[in-house]
Amino acid sequence: MRAIKILHLYPDRMNIYGDFGNIITLQKRMEWRGIKSTYHPVSIGDDLKGEYDIIFMGGGQDRGQQLVAKDLLLKSDIIHDHARRGTPILAICGAYQLFGKYFVTSEGEKLPGIGLFDLVTRASDQRMIGNLVVQNDVFGEMVGFENHSGETELLDGSLALGKVLKGFGNTSQSIGEGIIQGNSIGTYMHGSFLPKNPKVADFLIEKAVHKIEPNFVLKNLDDSLENKTLQSIINLTN
Ligand code: GLN
Repeated sequence: MRAIKILHLYPDRMNIYGDFGNIITLQKRMEWRGIKSTYHPVSIGDDLKGEYDIIFMGGGQDRGQQLVAKDLLLKSDIIHDHARRGTPILAICGAYQLFGKYFVTSEGEKLPGIGLFDLVTRASDQRMIGNLVVQNDVFGEMVGFENHSGETELLDGSLALGKVLKGFGNTSQSIGEGIIQGNSIGTYMHGSFLPKNPKVADFLIEKAVHKIEPNFVLKNLDDSLENKTLQSIINLTN
């Protein structure tokens, strides 16, 4: 099988609270299975070239989002086209917000999003910070670290990634956290997210591999350390 191409959007501008660890997790979990991957960082002014198999974008402060929002619109059609064809996408926090219809910053500036996710986000006067524990029927309990003032409203029957068990999530009062739409996931969970949530990492890898070889079977990895970490954070989070 050819190498899996990982597109990383704005690693120089949108990458906080360990978000790069998501890239490392994808690379390692493929390497441990003998699957080759190539890494494609793209930032402001860079063209997207050809076909990617996984698309990732991390979070950032309002300032970082202001810097990338216009350029992201130029890449919108290609991102939408990839999503339509089932390319797995992971967007963390500030990216999650910009993959919606718009994000109103703490200074009241309305940043246009690419509208991949049916949601809108408005900065609030509360910073939602701390460990998040979120329950999803397929992925089980997931953990991450949130730090955002943005409150995200899911529109038109969009599906939350999961139910908030501990922490804030999409809003300060919300029941739901993040979004899942086809093979695209948006979440407020930094930390890095994927190292502690191997089921989500393998979901993204499997979708990417199956685009090339539909019958490829991902062999199981020993996730005892990952799951121990996951459980210890759940236990720690009051
Ligand atoms: N600047 C956005 C907010 O505060 C996103 C923050 C982030 O990516 N951690 O809501």
